[in-house]
Formats: sequence, C-alpha cells, structure tokens
Amino acid sequence: AIIFENIEKSFGSLKVLKGISGEINRGEVIAVIGSSGCGKSTLLRCFNRLESINHGRLVVNGIDLSHPEINYSQLRELRTQVGMVFQQFNLFPHLSVLENLTLSPRKVLGKTPKESAQLAGLYLEKVGLFDKASAYPEQLSGGQKQRVAIARSLCMNPQIMLFDEPTSALDPELVGEVLQVMQQLAAEGMTMVVVTHEMQFAKEVAHRVIFLDQGLVVEQGIAHEVLTHPQSDRLRTFLSRLN
Ligand code: ATP
Ligand code: MG
Repeated sequence: AIIFENIEKSFGSLKVLKGISGEINRGEVIAVIGSSGCGKSTLLRCFNRLESINHGRLVVNGIDLSHPEINYSQLRELRTQVGMVFQQFNLFPHLSVLENLTLSPRKVLGKTPKESAQLAGLYLEKVGLFDKASAYPEQLSGGQKQRVAIARSLCMNPQIMLFDEPTSALDPELVGEVLQVMQQLAAEGMTMVVVTHEMQFAKEVAHRVIFLDQGLVVEQGIAHEVLTHPQSDRLRTFLSRLN
C-alpha cells in the first residue's frame, strides 16, 4: 500500500506538488490523469524515491519515505518492491532481452544465472515474447520493447508497479498489446499506479482515478464515475480536450 498525506515537492522555487493526500491499497489499480506539467511524473517518482518529498508523510509498503534521509538498505528494499515502467522503455541497448531481464535478479537479488533465466522465461512467456529472448532491443517494435520492460520489472517480484505513460511513445497500433499486458496484470491483483492519457483503459481497468491540476488533487474517486460524471469544470475541460 501507499499512504501519502499532504505531500509537497518543489524544484528550487517551483512548487510542483502542493499538498497531496491519498491512499493506494493493495490490489488497487489507480489511474493518475492531468495535463502536462501538473506533477504526475513527480508524484510517481516520489513513490519510488527517484525524488524525495519536502513536506508531508509518505509510506510505501511500510517503508517511511517522509524524511530527507533514508538508509541504503531501505532504499534497496523499496527498489525491489516497487517496479517502474517509463514512457521511453529504458532497456539496456547493448544487452539481449534475456540479459536485460536477468541482470537485476542476479545483481540485486543474488539469483543464480539458471534461476534468473527461468524467471525471465516465465515473464517473457507472460508478455508473449518468449521467442525474443536472444533479440536486442533495437530489433524490437516499440510495443515489444515496452512489454520487455514490463517483464523486466516483474522479474524482481515487485509488490507495486508504477507506470509513467507507458503507451505514449508508441504508434497507435501498438498501444493495445501493451495495455492488454497491463490489464492482465491488474486482473491478477497487482497494485498499480498508472499515469495515462488512455481514458478507456482508465475507465475499464482502473478502480480509482486521481485527477491532478497544478500540483493539487482536484478530483478523485471511482474511475467510471469520475470519468463519466466529472464534478469540476477543470476535469470537464481536461476530458473534453482529449476527444
Ligand atoms: P507530462 O504530462 O508532460 O509528463 P507531468 O504532469 O508528468 O507532465 P512533471 O514531470 O511532474 O509533470 O513536472 C511538473 C513540473 O515540475 C513541470 O513544470 C516540470 O518542468 C517541473 N520539473 C519536473 N522535474 C523537474 C526537475 N528535476 N527539475 C526542475 N523542474 C522539474
Ligand atoms: Mg510526466
């Protein structure tokens, strides 16, 4: 679970998160929506401590991230428990798909090459790319790269998965295959926080939606209700611009 209370984050004099509260429970799928620059990525990056917060309380899977200092073993634990998938895939270009997947299980979890290869096989199968194990990232389509990135995260056996616009860099015809993998993951009960502009996905797959505007939560609630009956003018305007 993720608990956040009145969290604030600034970059220099720019206040990006202005006091945001909420709770993400185990097994929940949360969509985070909002216009460019409203703080979606920053919020997500606070959840796995790519950024530290300036104020408020943040506890992720029992690990307290409220303070500017955090010890190395806690950070390590956090990074294995929380997986993140980015818009730009971030695969290691000089490593094969299999090597991309086995690297962290070997280096961080201390798994043997055989154990990590088995794990990799399992998750490649899951994302439908078992036959691409020896391919290099440049030989894959965008959708395939993103599915590899998801499989790579899953190899660490995370408790929570964060997705930052995982389909925004993809050609439209490749979006579906990635959303399908995410939908399957959600159906299996993974706790997921997804920054997305795919409102159909948010409506159908997410349990709840958080709408951010200028560093504040303007609306949140049951995905289907919030997206079909927005209460605020700002969300109405945001949704109408997407169509
Ligand atoms: P987008 O939809 O374009 O990805 P976003 O909602 O994810 O936008 P953020 O990336 O969280 O927005 O950025 C929020 C604000 O914080 C922006 O004004 C951005 O320029 C600023 N910002 C983000 N990261 C940094 C940083 N490392 N240093 C300085 N400013 C930053
Ligand atoms: Mg962003």
